[in-house]
Amino acid sequence: MLQQTQVKTVIPYFKVFLNNFPTLKSLSLSNETRVLKLWEGLGYYRRARNLLATSKIIVNEHDSKLPKNLIDIKKLPGIGDYTANALLAFIYEHPTIAIDGNVKRVFSRILNKNEKKINFDKLIEINKKNLFKVKRNSDFVEALMEFGALICKPKEPKCYNCNIKNMCKYFKSDKKFKQTKTLKTKEKKYNIFCYIDKMRNKIALTKKNNLGFLDKFYLPPIKESNSNKKIKNWNFHSNFKNSISNKKLNINLYFKFTLKIPTQHKWFSLKKNNEFIPSFTKKILKQISKIN
Ligand code: SF4
Repeated sequence: MLQQTQVKTVIPYFKVFLNNFPTLKSLSLSNETRVLKLWEGLGYYRRARNLLATSKIIVNEHDSKLPKNLIDIKKLPGIGDYTANALLAFIYEHPTIAIDGNVKRVFSRILNKNEKKINFDKLIEINKKNLFKVKRNSDFVEALMEFGALICKPKEPKCYNCNIKNMCKYFKSDKKFKQTKTLKTKEKKYNIFCYIDKMRNKIALTKKNNLGFLDKFYLPPIKESNSNKKIKNWNFHSNFKNSISNKKLNINLYFKFTLKIPTQHKWFSLKKNNEFIPSFTKKILKQISKIN
């Protein structure tokens, strides 16, 4: 839940989730509809699907225990290098480091070197003896993350309060390296088409959008567009911006009234639905339901 999402947003979801699934086994016996319903509003729904799939694999193939080696952990859905290393450190105290942006920044500052020029695997291997001195590697990994987030921050690191400033080349050097600026994500234009059954207050949604994000979830038909031209035979409703899965969307919302359901679509209420629909779709429903 914490991937790309702040702790304060996650807490209420986490509590409800654990009340529903107090054990790995109970989660593994559940189904996607139920898990997604509990995840509704948290976004990045692939995480929920992966979590459910992973719980089934761990229960059925690993006797309900997380594998103890990197290769097997990385075979689990949704678990890449970073999460695998974090799990090995947190759960098994393995001598390993989960390298994210914060940790890379800390090391690159200590060395006063652009992170692109550092081979982190090699750096860890060479310094193994010094890095993994104690058996509490979970605390070490956690501390590195917190240190990067709270002290060696991206902007204005708190060098004067830093306990390792005497060994930090960035702090001591007159020639501080320059961090590479992260490129801003380009905005993309999309047209969204809402088929409305005005009498019944319903909208047609489809899972067939093939956009790479919100794949297999119910959305109105959405298409990438290169122009600002209004679309023939559709009523323009509004323009709005939205960010989703690190993508910036500039959306033109169109609608038309119809009684006929298009193929591969399903009617949903514009007000309240029991079936799971992502927050992105809910936002559209809210806007479009104001049509008179
Ligand atoms: S001295 Fe400053 S730059 Fe160096 S590790 Fe500490 S906070 Fe980061």
